[in-house]
Amino acid sequence: MSLIMSLNSGSSSLKFQVFRMPAEVLIASGLIERIGLPSSVFTVKANDHEESSTLDIPNHKEAIRLVLESLMSHGIVSDLKDIAGIGHRIVHGGEKYSASVVINEQVEKDIEVLSDLAPLHNPANLLGVRVIDEILPEAVQVAVFDTAFHQTMEPVSYMYPLPYEYYEKYGIRKYGFHGTSHGYVTKRLREILGSENSRRIISCHLGNGGSLAAVKNGKCVNTTMGFTPLAGIMMGTRSGDIDPSILAYLSEKEHLSLQGVTDLCNKKSGLLGVSGISSDMRDIENAIKEGSARAKLACDMYVQRVCNTIAAYAVQLGGVDAILFTAGIGENSIYLRQLIIETLEDAFPIELDRTANNIRRKEAKISTASSRIQVWVIPTNEELVIARDTYRLMK
Ligand code: AMP
Repeated sequence: MSLIMSLNSGSSSLKFQVFRMPAEVLIASGLIERIGLPSSVFTVKANDHEESSTLDIPNHKEAIRLVLESLMSHGIVSDLKDIAGIGHRIVHGGEKYSASVVINEQVEKDIEVLSDLAPLHNPANLLGVRVIDEILPEAVQVAVFDTAFHQTMEPVSYMYPLPYEYYEKYGIRKYGFHGTSHGYVTKRLREILGSENSRRIISCHLGNGGSLAAVKNGKCVNTTMGFTPLAGIMMGTRSGDIDPSILAYLSEKEHLSLQGVTDLCNKKSGLLGVSGISSDMRDIENAIKEGSARAKLACDMYVQRVCNTIAAYAVQLGGVDAILFTAGIGENSIYLRQLIIETLEDAFPIELDRTANNIRRKEAKISTASSRIQVWVIPTNEELVIARDTYRLMK
């Protein structure tokens, strides 16, 4: 028996889960928000009990110390050495990493170099690794990359139609993200359906960030996020794909730097930007019920972008056996799933079972028995994948 902690170290947040392996029992989880800001919030759930406290946590080292102390005080571990492995979510693994790896000096260096491609994420992820190096030097650390699952894409799908030299010089290409989630949910659906009936899957990870992946025989052949997680479908606050000329145009008109316009596309666009109300689909749904035309427009745009991508991926896959929904919106929004599938019904041999669709956060088939394309809700669990990979690589 081993205790494995999965860590997701963000720029100002830290999420953790502790699993007892190989039984895969979740025994503690928690979140620290606002690291480095006044009044950080620490929430921990253990022994069926959740508690939250507000205190000043100046940096990631203190945050991780606090997490470890609280695991001791809740009796989850009696000695920090009980935590045999730590799995880290690392956003960017570039072209080098197509699978999870045990972290050594070279891997740390690579993650650092790749910070150039993921400046918001990799440095924070690496900070988590380095703090564990200091506090728990004997624990095995494993890197689980968000990009790894997408490394099976062919050049025809990952290259951008830019001068080729920029791919060679700077690695400008599509990498794709949310790979841990797409990998987990498509594997799970293939277990349920059997490999013959799940050769062509379109995976819709619709959360605050969102992406779709086209998966053939278990391997990713295309995905919507690109060089960065800004690309693809419309998201909570991210624009997704737009005409790139808009960036220079807006920069001139609004006297913004290119970075300023990129921030605007990342943080003030998407559902939030169009609706002017919220980035949260629950608020959008409520606003639609109250008659907000802009919330309706935002929602319709979102649905159209998802459906157009599904249609494009159906062509690339040579047909579709199953479509699956996962993440916050995909698992919970009965309304959105209905809009998406009903839009597809005119063009594809697909039919929603409205009664079956009336579920949240549960694994379920939501298409009718006669629907040629099956539709499923598969809850994602990236932390479990991180724990599994860590446990497997430790042995
Ligand atoms: P995630 O990034 O996967 O945690 O997803 C977060 C998003 O899920 C939120 O911003 C909401 O838009 C959405 N969400 C969560 N619960 C619901 C719900 N019951 N109905 C609609 N959307 C939801």
